[in-house]
Amino acid sequence: MKLILFGMPGVGKGTQAKILSQKHGAIHVSTGDMLRSNIQNGTPLGAMAKGYMDKGELVPDNLIIAMIEEILSSAKAKKGYVLDGFPRTVPQAQALETILWRANVPLDKAINIVVDEEEVVRRLSGRMTCPNCGAIYHKYNQPPKVENTCDHCGHVGLVQRHDDKEETVRHRLEVYHQNTEPVLEFYRKKGVIVDVDGAKPVEEVTASIEAIIQNGKV
Ligand code: ADP
Ligand code: AMP
Repeated sequence: MKLILFGMPGVGKGTQAKILSQKHGAIHVSTGDMLRSNIQNGTPLGAMAKGYMDKGELVPDNLIIAMIEEILSSAKAKKGYVLDGFPRTVPQAQALETILWRANVPLDKAINIVVDEEEVVRRLSGRMTCPNCGAIYHKYNQPPKVENTCDHCGHVGLVQRHDDKEETVRHRLEVYHQNTEPVLEFYRKKGVIVDVDGAKPVEEVTASIEAIIQNGKV
């Protein structure tokens, strides 16, 4: 499975990427998770990225491309990858073409998860994540089995992301329309994109994506 998941912040890319990568033995490549882990580990990349992320701005392309190149050129990527949150600009999409060609791991499909903008704001205002393993929850839609405790690793203390404050979410949506929507056009012209209704329950969205993969509908 060699897949890109597109869509506005909050449509469910991370949720689906975790399920699909685990089920199909692919690596989950989330540029957001990679950047957050760099911040947590106090790396120079984390220090450079933090200001942009806190404001809901995009981190400069050169930093993102260097970070992604290493993982997509590794042996692990040969088994498959699910890209989540990358590419987010046309220069990133162009760089990705070269990286995938050089590493000989061509893309199978690009899935655009579609959810109404107000629903996305509601989802992000209730999103909780596990700071230990990155599992994603929602206060109401997908609560953990035991309050404030991660189902996957047992960590106590789920957190809300700094950039999930409504004001920052609204700015991230503007950034999405301005910088990331043109990436959709880039892939539409190539005829490799399929839209999926992301407003359905998690399992149904997974089933729609898997049906597209199985039917080779791109
Ligand atoms: P993204 O990676 O696109 O920003 P996430 O996967 O983190 O989005 O999901 C955002 C929020 O929406 C999370 O709180 C998640 O639990 C919730 N969520 C994800 N998919 C669905 C769904 N199909 N229905 C309802 N809530 C969902
Ligand atoms: P995400 O976890 O995908 O919601 O990303 C969180 C934040 O990380 C974004 O708002 C950006 O600041 C930064 N980021 C993640 N991926 C990228 C990317 N591909 N290009 C630029 N910035 C990114």
